Amino acid sequence: MTAGWTEGPTEKCGVVGVSLADRDAARPLYYALYALQHRGQESAGIVTHDGFQQYDHVGMGLVGDAFAEADLDGLRGRVGIGHVRYPTAGSVDSSCAQPFSVSFKSGSLGLSHNGNLVNAEEVRDDLEGLGHAFTSDGDTEVIAHDLARNLLDGDLIRAVRRTMDRVHGSYALTIMHDDTVVGLRDPEGNRPLCLGRLDDGYVLASESAAIDVLDGELIRDVRPGELVVLEPDGSGYETYRLVERERTAHCFFEHVYFARPDSVIDGELVYEVRRELGRLLWEESGIETDVVMPVPDSGRAFASGYAEAASEARGDADDADGDGADIEFAEGLMKNRYVGRTFIMPTQDARERAVKLKLNPIRSTVEGRTVTLVDDSIVRGTTSDQLVELLYEAGAEEVHMRIGAPPIVAPCYMGINMATREELIASERTVEEIRERIDADSLAYLSIDAVAEALSRSRADLCLGCVTGEYPYDIDGEATDRDVNRPVVGDEAAGADD
Ligand code: SF4
Repeated sequence: MTAGWTEGPTEKCGVVGVSLADRDAARPLYYALYALQHRGQESAGIVTHDGFQQYDHVGMGLVGDAFAEADLDGLRGRVGIGHVRYPTAGSVDSSCAQPFSVSFKSGSLGLSHNGNLVNAEEVRDDLEGLGHAFTSDGDTEVIAHDLARNLLDGDLIRAVRRTMDRVHGSYALTIMHDDTVVGLRDPEGNRPLCLGRLDDGYVLASESAAIDVLDGELIRDVRPGELVVLEPDGSGYETYRLVERERTAHCFFEHVYFARPDSVIDGELVYEVRRELGRLLWEESGIETDVVMPVPDSGRAFASGYAEAASEARGDADDADGDGADIEFAEGLMKNRYVGRTFIMPTQDARERAVKLKLNPIRSTVEGRTVTLVDDSIVRGTTSDQLVELLYEAGAEEVHMRIGAPPIVAPCYMGINMATREELIASERTVEEIRERIDADSLAYLSIDAVAEALSRSRADLCLGCVTGEYPYDIDGEATDRDVNRPVVGDEAAGADD
């Protein structure tokens, strides 16, 4: 992400759930949340159950700050769910921190949600009309109340099915009803969720890296529209495909930017997808330069794939002995890792300073040379011009920019804090106009078809809303890319599942 640290979209959330045979769930959940920290830094929380009652702890900040040893000791029970959050829908304070937990007539409920409902307001209005009182403005509480209501006269599976009939949008959830943990993915599979096996139980998590950190084994992704129910004693799981659609809508941005490179999402190792995107970028718009370098860290895998394909194209792919014939892949921009995400930049001057604080060119790799700078995407583009300028200042003769995703032309409504149309540099500009603005010698983006190829998917099974302006959900004022309608909320017939 060009200057993802100053302007990039922010992920949503990470969710996890475990069910273990003979040890408390709190610490495995805590470690898993650490592995998912990149998906949310605003708050972290865990809810557990010991067969009698529910325990919860939610704190603001990073996982390491949100929990003290005593907090983990107080979270009793062998089952639980966890959450790391970045604000999407809902206000930025502890009332929206998750997991959301509630007690009601037929038990207790905890929810961790990744994604964003498109029709939360309608469902909330309906529930308020039925007497439900809400404590936050987040969409997770809407799901929790709807589910709690459905649980009053149905079992968990039937209740989940009814709620799925009413909510519209993106959700990957881990839910704990009393001491049963379940995972649920929306019928389009927009957000990731996977299932893993541990020595003494099972785990559900947004990304497989969280399973790795627990020494577990990835079983598979939870399927779109599927409910996975973990046995409370950690002995197994059952699955129910509650809704099946012809087309999925996986968020392609997970592979491009959000997910950890070491995670496997929807069957594809993220790192390899990024390298393949880089290779395809070379095939579509490669340009011979002396050196290929990534924007750290987001462009690294893309740049390595791009440089490898460039070297192969030159016919010297076997030149691994470093005699100088390969296209050089170099780290030409050094990153200061101690400039955090919280660096405040109210003025243009401060923003420019931020780029210099964050990245410093290595003059010897740049001076007197032609450079290809590779990144995963450009969102607002407010710092791309400064990156190009940094390289010129360090003596680059030419700077060519290559982007491993298509231009982002529209906002995301599915839980990613992208930007508004007005803020997106590509929403009203041609590639040539953007090139002029960032002052690069050339600029090229990857095509949508190449994205689909790298993800081994058909275009029809991806969400491409932010690059096409057509969405897989029925969103007010926006076009859809398929035949889709919001559920009619309040119509009891719409909620029937049989
Ligand atoms: S609009 Fe873009 S970022 Fe949002 S879910 Fe779709 S592909 Fe992902």
